[in-house]
Amino acid sequence: MPVRYLPRLMREAPRLDDAAPRRPVTPRSALLVNPFYPKDPHASFGKHVLTPTLALTSFAGATPPDWQVRYWDENLLQGPPPADPFPQVVAITVHLTFARRAFALALWFRDRGAKVVFGGLHVLSCPDECGPHADALVTGEGAAVWPDILRDIEAGQLKRQYHGSYRRPYRDDPPPRRGLLDRRAFLTTTSINATRGCHNRCGFCYLSTDGLRMPYQCRDVEQVVAEVAADGQPYFVFTDNNLGSRPDYLRELCRGLRPLRKIWSAAVTLDVTDDPSLVREMALGGCTGVFVGFESLSDANIADARKKSPRAAEYARRIGVFHDHGIQVNGSFVLGFDHDRPDCFEQLVDWIEGVRMESATYHVLTPYPGTPLFRQMEAEGRILHRDWERYDTAHVVFRPKHMSVDQLAEGYEYCYDRTFSHRCVWNRRPRDGRAVPAYLAMAYLYKKCNRLWPVLIRRRLTHWAWRPLLEASRLRHLRYRRRLAGTVADGSPVRAPVYAGV
Ligand code: SF4
Repeated sequence: MPVRYLPRLMREAPRLDDAAPRRPVTPRSALLVNPFYPKDPHASFGKHVLTPTLALTSFAGATPPDWQVRYWDENLLQGPPPADPFPQVVAITVHLTFARRAFALALWFRDRGAKVVFGGLHVLSCPDECGPHADALVTGEGAAVWPDILRDIEAGQLKRQYHGSYRRPYRDDPPPRRGLLDRRAFLTTTSINATRGCHNRCGFCYLSTDGLRMPYQCRDVEQVVAEVAADGQPYFVFTDNNLGSRPDYLRELCRGLRPLRKIWSAAVTLDVTDDPSLVREMALGGCTGVFVGFESLSDANIADARKKSPRAAEYARRIGVFHDHGIQVNGSFVLGFDHDRPDCFEQLVDWIEGVRMESATYHVLTPYPGTPLFRQMEAEGRILHRDWERYDTAHVVFRPKHMSVDQLAEGYEYCYDRTFSHRCVWNRRPRDGRAVPAYLAMAYLYKKCNRLWPVLIRRRLTHWAWRPLLEASRLRHLRYRRRLAGTVADGSPVRAPVYAGV
């Protein structure tokens, strides 16, 4: 296998200085930390700086005004979290792939007198593992209980466990505090959720983790529109698990967004194409890209995963519905399901090339602890190890059914290498020649510049690098949707988008 470019700062967390001078704790000062995680050299390094994590900005939004709050994402490559002034409380997101780093950070800050609070999915799925490393654990909707935690710290009565219910009305959550973010550091600072949860409960998805009860909820359209407008970015990303679970809501949301004249992308399930008029509404509302979990071209795999999805034979036609409305598709595929055989990789990329899917994301099937898939694999004796750092969907951590571990690992590499080869990028270009330059610029900046990304990230040039392409895409989209609205009003079918969006 070829050696991949993976510089040290993309694979190792910044060093914590054990000799740093100890400082007094600053009362009513909170530090919110997203720990470093090692990057996958097959994927774009740029994907980690597209949008900020909403978890921390939501905590910041819920912080009482008499507390100072700072935000630190170690993946922005600016070093370890700041310790001057020294925080009274440090809240750390813990996911399984970076749990070890979270524990190291917790040890460093606790040793110097800070209280450490853990939230995140790993706290829910592995509380016994997380418990000894923190002063308090938060499960569920952390921002809902964050003010209580701070008041308890003030009173010297911090509890070991807090739980925020996902059942309280989503609209009651305070807006994320995006003002804390460095706008230069991300493609866009407007990552936003309009909904929470998903109508599916796929066996491999983290949403099916034991104890995670997240009813599908929608925020008021006016709230979402006001938040997007307030951040002032030309492009924004819905980070919802599935923005399309309720088509009536999605339609209303798109109508609300239309006057903003911004462009956006979102994760949706393929069933939004049941009704092409909904896809048209998305395009008119500014949608230029969708992230769709196709997962597999095998209906048997989809059935095993208990995903409600159109049959695979329908996928190509439905991709055409997006393309007909100027919406690009980034397909997500899971490799290593029980009906996958060694020839599935070549077939998959042939198909992606054939349908001219603009982008694809691959994941090795990964049994997350606490999910039905993990229980099944464990019962069948197929879990290879519990080194959570390698549960990152880039490594094989279980024994596949119809191929070897090496075949699956090589298949994963093959899919990325071939999909983003010069030839395949070219073969997947939009049919309209006028859209090709923007498509190529985006594909190459995002997928073929891993040697450049560490420099751009460290020097906070991410937004600068994207901005001209985003603005050009927005202007092209506005021209496109004027034609789209006019054409449909005339009763004619709309064909052949003439731009390449994000
Ligand atoms: S459709 Fe997607 S978000 Fe919903 S449960 Fe399945 S994998 Fe998770």
